Amino acid sequence: MIVILLGPPGSGKGTQVDQTCQKYNLLPVATGNILRNLIATNNICEKSLAKMMGTGELFPDEIVNNLVVEAINNNVCNADYTYKNNYKGLLFDGYPRTVGQAAFLENILNKINKKVDCVLVFNIPHSMIVERITARRVDKTTGKVYNLISMPPPPEVIDNLIQRIDDTEEVIKNRLNIYKKQTEPLIEYYSKSNLIKNVDASKEFEITEKNISLALQEFV
Ligand code: AMP
Repeated sequence: MIVILLGPPGSGKGTQVDQTCQKYNLLPVATGNILRNLIATNNICEKSLAKMMGTGELFPDEIVNNLVVEAINNNVCNADYTYKNNYKGLLFDGYPRTVGQAAFLENILNKINKKVDCVLVFNIPHSMIVERITARRVDKTTGKVYNLISMPPPPEVIDNLIQRIDDTEEVIKNRLNIYKKQTEPLIEYYSKSNLIKNVDASKEFEITEKNISLALQEFV
């Protein structure tokens, strides 16, 4: 099963990744996390690129596409295109973000006899987004995402939490504009192949989790 999570920043995609991947044995491919790790370990040295993370601008398609190819190559056998490490599929979070990336993904999946099964669109009123994002905290060791309001962290991890540099009110506006212009057109792109399933992501974590299970049940 290959699933894409699509939705504006703050719609709660990241908080659902762990649970969904565990439940269906999917490999998470979260390009934002991969890029953050590369920056933290000085593997993206070009300052202008590293700076993009703080402004919400999108990295060039070529860079992100190459990271996705690497993640797929590391987890799919060359010989028969089965998944390694007991995975049963892939879950993309934050990728594709442009129509160009979507076309590229289709192409590379084609080459390994696979296709996207479902695109889950996380719907949330824009008025909730700023509140959600400014309350987001990330465990700097595990990368696990919490929300001070909707998914409070357990006391033992509180000292290990950080706020992302792009989770400020000012940057959020830019990220939303970029989402509207460059990523939202993907809804139309994937509608053409009937891949879209809408998820009401405005409720509590458990309700969204249930909505995801309902949307995915026909692919299991
Ligand atoms: P995210 O963690 O998905 O919110 O991503 C954080 C930041 O990483 C984004 O604001 C972009 O700067 C960059 N990024 C992540 N995924 C992509 C992508 N698919 N294409 C371009 N830039 C990306």
